[in-house]
Amino acid sequence: MVKYIAYCRKSTDEADRQLLSIEAQISELKEFAKRENLEVVDFFTEAKTAKKPGREKFEQMLKLIEKGEANGILSWHADRLARNSVDGGKIIYLLDTGKLQSLKFPTLWFENTPQGKFMLSIAFGQSKYYIDNLSENVKRGIRQKLRNGVYPNKAPIGYLNELRKRSIEVDPQTERLVRKAFSLFATGKYTFVDIDKFFFEHGIKSSTNKYLRMDKIRCMLKSPFYYGVFDFAGETYQGTHKPLISKTLFDKCQEIIKRKSKTHINHKDEFWFLGLAKCKECHSTITAEKHFKFYPKTRGKVRYDYYRCGKKHGYCSQKYVSGGEFEKQIREILWTHSLHELNARKMLNWLHADEIQERQSGETKISLFKSQLFNVEQKLDRLLTGYLDQVIETSEYQTVKKKLIEEKTNFEEQISSFEKNQFAWVELVRDFINSALSAHKIARAKNNGEELPFFAKKVGSNYFLSGGRLEFVPLRGFNALAAPAPAASAPLSIHDLRRGRDLNSR
Ligand SMILES: [Zn+2]
Repeated sequence: MVKYIAYCRKSTDEADRQLLSIEAQISELKEFAKRENLEVVDFFTEAKTAKKPGREKFEQMLKLIEKGEANGILSWHADRLARNSVDGGKIIYLLDTGKLQSLKFPTLWFENTPQGKFMLSIAFGQSKYYIDNLSENVKRGIRQKLRNGVYPNKAPIGYLNELRKRSIEVDPQTERLVRKAFSLFATGKYTFVDIDKFFFEHGIKSSTNKYLRMDKIRCMLKSPFYYGVFDFAGETYQGTHKPLISKTLFDKCQEIIKRKSKTHINHKDEFWFLGLAKCKECHSTITAEKHFKFYPKTRGKVRYDYYRCGKKHGYCSQKYVSGGEFEKQIREILWTHSLHELNARKMLNWLHADEIQERQSGETKISLFKSQLFNVEQKLDRLLTGYLDQVIETSEYQTVKKKLIEEKTNFEEQISSFEKNQFAWVELVRDFINSALSAHKIARAKNNGEELPFFAKKVGSNYFLSGGRLEFVPLRGFNALAAPAPAASAPLSIHDLRRGRDLNSR
């Protein structure tokens, strides 16, 4: 009786998706063995490629056969055993020397005869041919894509792989966000983390619904793909995909990345509020330091952060502010320049009602334009008939025609711009309300210190530290939200509110 070893293999690099998983191979082989009444003495499974010799389990199996502990192999297909000439040769040699008496495959018939061995060597050869061809085809496909200016990899954020056209197209869902991310970053006010948060808020997330990894954000902001060029295997190619940003914007971002990497801070030491404010007295950037205090009986080692003027421009009289105080002030700013959920809901409802009304009146206007356009077209038509019937002189025809064509383009332009811009403001207002609502939630939430600076920048700009107080200029819209607090209980000295309004109305 032949003693079989069952061998199952599937490697992760195998492109063939129809291939059975190892578990499926095991159960198929068990069933096959039962049906054919085969004695299986051992199961070997391996998750390795058979492109190259040197599979451990495969070698172990061959040793057992050489020692005579088994004399048959059971496998799903010949290509599970070998895809290279060395391993295929070993199997055939064991058959020749009689150590191996039988090979069984549910997918392939084999008999230990000269013809059978000949067929087997063809099967091994085919498996090798398949793998050789596969990599050659892949390489050929890549070369073809490069010649066509198509990036031969997964499309980056903002783009999609169009499989049918074998091209990379703009993703209508995310292109706007990617553009926005670049322009936000180019202002120099936002960090990689901020961009990540911006994406997360707008639905660009990892496959597991979490924040994207920071290196992904960094890669995106450094990728020339977005202005139309890409690097592949050390060479630069002019892409045929539609650029999302200009080279100028890209260059600006690169400068900022360079600047940031110079002042790079160790992650463990990250200070949440760095880069947010400047010293009002001397306009130096604010730096931070940490100190530890040890409470042997109660809390152990506790970290305290301090923020102070970097004093880059010589003497400055400003004192430091503790991290806790800084955080408290930002929360106050967010709180006073935000919308309570109830109010936000109300505003969104109003906005929605306005939108509906606007849509109706817009439709009326558009249909009015369209009927005027139709009139002009009819006039043109009649004019041509008159001209062809020789009722109208050539010179008169040309003058009137010119005038009518001008009218026509005018109406067409009005219609199209009306259709395009009608609801742009609704989107802007909705964005604003949502930001004001999240600022409210963020201000109240606990343990979210690292989120504060991001929202602080959404609510205002020009943050300055002066005498331990944080001053800033609320952005348009947010200034209106700040309720005039009674002077005595004013939690914050925003003397520049008035000035801020002027600044922001530009
Ligand atoms: Zn200073």
